Formats: sequence, structure tokens, C-alpha cells
Amino acid sequence: MVEKAKKIWLDGKFVDWDAASVHILTHTLHYGLGVFEGIRCYLCADGRSAIFRLREHVDRLFEGAHVMFLNIPFTREEILGGILETLRVNGQKAGYIRPLVFIGDGAMGLHPQNNQVRVAIVTWPWGAYLGEEGLAKGIRAKVSSHIRHHVNIMMTKTKTCGNYVNSILAKLEVTKDGYDEAIMLDTEGYVCEASGENIFIVRHGRMKTPPLTSILPGITRDSVMTIARDQGFVVEEQRFSRDELYMADEVFFTGTAAEITPVREVDRRTIGQGQPGPVTRKLQEVFFQVVKGSRPEYQQWLTYV
Ligand code: PMP
Repeated sequence: MVEKAKKIWLDGKFVDWDAASVHILTHTLHYGLGVFEGIRCYLCADGRSAIFRLREHVDRLFEGAHVMFLNIPFTREEILGGILETLRVNGQKAGYIRPLVFIGDGAMGLHPQNNQVRVAIVTWPWGAYLGEEGLAKGIRAKVSSHIRHHVNIMMTKTKTCGNYVNSILAKLEVTKDGYDEAIMLDTEGYVCEASGENIFIVRHGRMKTPPLTSILPGITRDSVMTIARDQGFVVEEQRFSRDELYMADEVFFTGTAAEITPVREVDRRTIGQGQPGPVTRKLQEVFFQVVKGSRPEYQQWLTYV
């Protein structure tokens, strides 16, 4: 259950958490055309709160809306300000932020006509998405039989609501089989991403992650690539196959919710020593210092609340 905050930002105004309801004919609820973001705010070592890469998340929201013909009736600055205000109004020092752009009620049918494009910003406390133990010890993943969208079926570089039916199918499939997370292949059979995370492998000290072709351009992925290169690691954006995944010394997922989650098993094959490897551990260590403001060289990624 999501822990209630005091207020939700809805169409530019604050409403009480329980009063933030919409009509049953809300277009997005029926047909899935909407875009959203997932952003994290961290409590820093100095007691302040900082949102990680806020500008990039707001940009991705607007780019997704542009692709989806959703005309957001607010400027980027207004949404950015709304996010900061929502955290302040709720007195939230750390947690998750969910901006959602959706089509309101009015006309039904596949043409959304002139239905209002609406925006909500919701914040709530959220711990480790794949569990504290997963973050510390690694999780078990399975390649799903549901493949990732073809680039001409869904717009895979956007966080479009409807895209996530594919992710949910994969997630439900593997969790019903006792695994923690689903790895998805692309339409040509190469490793693509996880249901809600990007994926990296490490072999002989070199890191590899799939190119942006048919994946969500993860902001954590980008941050981890930058941090890794700054740490002297070689990172290649290159497609790889399932057997390469099994042969990796280390596998990990990146995402706003999942942060850097080590993967200790894939399809019943132990990865490396079956525990987070040295590269994953190093990246986790630096990443958490970065998001909590202890690394001055990455201060430009933080927006203090
Ligand atoms: N891929 C998918 C499908 C996702 O939903 C997410 C989460 N937004 C990611 C990757 C990771 O992206 P980010 O690091 O920007 O959260």
C-alpha cells in the first residue's frame, strides 16, 4: 500500500489526497494514452533533501508527451516547480515522485478529441523497489516469454502508460514462477531491459549495456555509465545475447525505483559467485554517495528542495 501524503498536485492546484479522484470515463483509464515519470528525492548527508536529475525527468516527460500528441497545458518550469512544491507541502524529505499526464473525460472512442489533458503530481515514501535484501544481496531474474515492444508497435523511448501492460505481463509471469524480476528480449531475441529497469553485464572487468534502440533511455543508466567511466571502467553500448548474460561475471539492473540492484541468478544459472560482484558494489557505493550529495563533482545532478 502506498503511504498517503497530505496533498496531490492536480491540474495546478493542491487537493487533499483522498479528494484527488477522476471520472470513470477518464480517457487514459480506458485506452492507456498518457505519459508518466518516476523520480526520486533523497535525504542528503547534510540533512537537506535533493531530487536526483529532476530536469532530465521533466524533459523526458515532455518529450514523451510530444511523441504522444499530448499537449501539456503547463510549461516545463511549472511542472518542475509543482514537483518541488508538492514535496514541500507534504513535508517529505525523501521518497518517490510520480508526475502523470493523462487525458480526461469527455469524448469516448479512440480519438481523444478535445478532452482536457490533465496533470497530476503525487509523492510518497518508497524504499528499495526490489527489496532491501535484493539491493544488498542480489535478486533472482528470469527471461520472460513476453518480448519487449517492437519499435514500430509502441514508442519504446517514452514512458507511455499503455507500454507498461507488456511489462506487467512479464513481471506477473516471472513472479508467479517465484522470481523477483523479468528480463525482456527484443524482437530479434537480444537482451533488452527488465520490466522497469535497464540492464548491465560485467565480464572480465568490462561493462556492457544494450544500446538505446528499443529501450527506455534510463536516467539511472546514463548516470551509471557516467559514474562508471569516471571510475575508469570501460562501458560499451552493445547488444548481447542470452548466453552472454548467463556467462557474465556480474549482472545488475538500474532504475529510479530499483536504483542499482544486483542480479545473482538468471534462469537458474548462478551469476558469478552468486552475490554482488566488485564492480556492482563499487557503482552502488558511488551512486548512493552521489544521490545523497556527498560527491561534489556530481552536484549538477541535484535539485535541493
Ligand atoms: N526501463 C523501463 C521500461 C522503465 O520503466 C524504467 C523506469 N523508469 C527504466 C528502464 C529505468 O529508467 P530510469 O533510470 O530513468 O528510471
